[in-house]
Amino acid sequence: MTLDPEIKGWCPSAHHPMITGDGLLIRPRIIGASISNKQLYALAHIAEDYGNGLLDLSQRGQFQIRGLTEQSYQYAVQALIDHNLASKNNTPRAPVNIMVSPLSGLTSKRQETAQQLAERIINILDATNEFSNLPPKFNLSINDCQILPLGESDADIAVNIITDQEIELSLAGDDEQIIQTDSGTIVDAILKIMRTYLDYAQRDPFQFRRLGKLLKTLSFDEFYKSAGLLNIKKTKNHTFKPCDYLGRHKHGDNYCIGFSAFSGRWQSRQLLEIANLLNEYALSEIRITPWRALIIPTKDFKVAEKITLSLPAIGVITAREDPRNLIITCPGSPGCLQANGPTHDVALQLTEKLNTVPSGPRPYVHISGCKKGCANPAPSPITVTLQDDHMAIIHNGSAHAAPHYCAPSIERAIAYLNHFMTAQNNA
Ligand code: SF4
Repeated sequence: MTLDPEIKGWCPSAHHPMITGDGLLIRPRIIGASISNKQLYALAHIAEDYGNGLLDLSQRGQFQIRGLTEQSYQYAVQALIDHNLASKNNTPRAPVNIMVSPLSGLTSKRQETAQQLAERIINILDATNEFSNLPPKFNLSINDCQILPLGESDADIAVNIITDQEIELSLAGDDEQIIQTDSGTIVDAILKIMRTYLDYAQRDPFQFRRLGKLLKTLSFDEFYKSAGLLNIKKTKNHTFKPCDYLGRHKHGDNYCIGFSAFSGRWQSRQLLEIANLLNEYALSEIRITPWRALIIPTKDFKVAEKITLSLPAIGVITAREDPRNLIITCPGSPGCLQANGPTHDVALQLTEKLNTVPSGPRPYVHISGCKKGCANPAPSPITVTLQDDHMAIIHNGSAHAAPHYCAPSIERAIAYLNHFMTAQNNA
């Protein structure tokens, strides 16, 4: 019998490890989309020395270090603190994750970039425990780039910096109710929203565990009025589409080289080799995307060319057409205690045995260890949900949707998917 997945409702941190099937898991605190080369070295060494050498990069742009033991955990946390990848102590702080557009500051000139705004907000939040009872998954996205924008996200608060004097703020993925601010008033507006939400969330922490859930029972007008903010009705501009982030692209006077690891899982060795590359070319930072990919920016064309040539030897994905880019998976077993099977092994077998690469969105196939669908809550063209005695194959649905076919073995699943994808490509 396959049990319904458990909703954990909290995210691990350095000071709050999660017990998983392959040991303790911790999440360093990376502010925004930029990480220094020194911090990249530190992550690689910590994962290698104290964990099992594996790191997952989440869709919130955060690394998770896997496989720590009770003995190694304390050393790992101290190393994270030493590299400014964890707060110095375990004092309750606002559990706020802030995503920043990966090319922040590279593609447009601002008085204050999205990255700098994220750092300003975190500094304010770190100086108070006023927001420490916010629901643990509360998160902000801050966008200041229309080339690789954050786009649709599940952010509780989405900030879009259009110019220094024109900053729009919207809530819970809503498209029509906007708060208009500027660089002088944006932080005040964010704090007012957090205060108001916290007030409601404390009345019913489970029902209002996300701001979107509260706004299903309370109108936007009522919410904004309680916060002392004036909303206007305006449709957000969705005409821009992110260009491809993998491979080498020129944006303004920067060359940006994007790459990802198979299914978002990085080996410490890969991060170490990437840090060595940055070191070799005197580059001091790398950018993190919410697409589980990294981007190296450089203004030097020759350096960009050399890095592009070096990346395949590290085993990373550098092109949209790479068959490994078709598939997204969650950790699966042994990493996740709720998993019905080893998602990464299934993904590898599929990658090797699929005989056609379909066009269409990426990822095309979502392999989920259970019905929870952590790796991709949205529908995918194909979702394969592992059950305890079969694989449920779902078309254009999420991991919990009713299956179109139940494959009793991996061989039957591969045969079905090959048949389906060939038919799609010929249609
Ligand atoms: S979807 Fe994957 S990671 Fe999420 S609970 Fe299920 S098996 Fe675990």
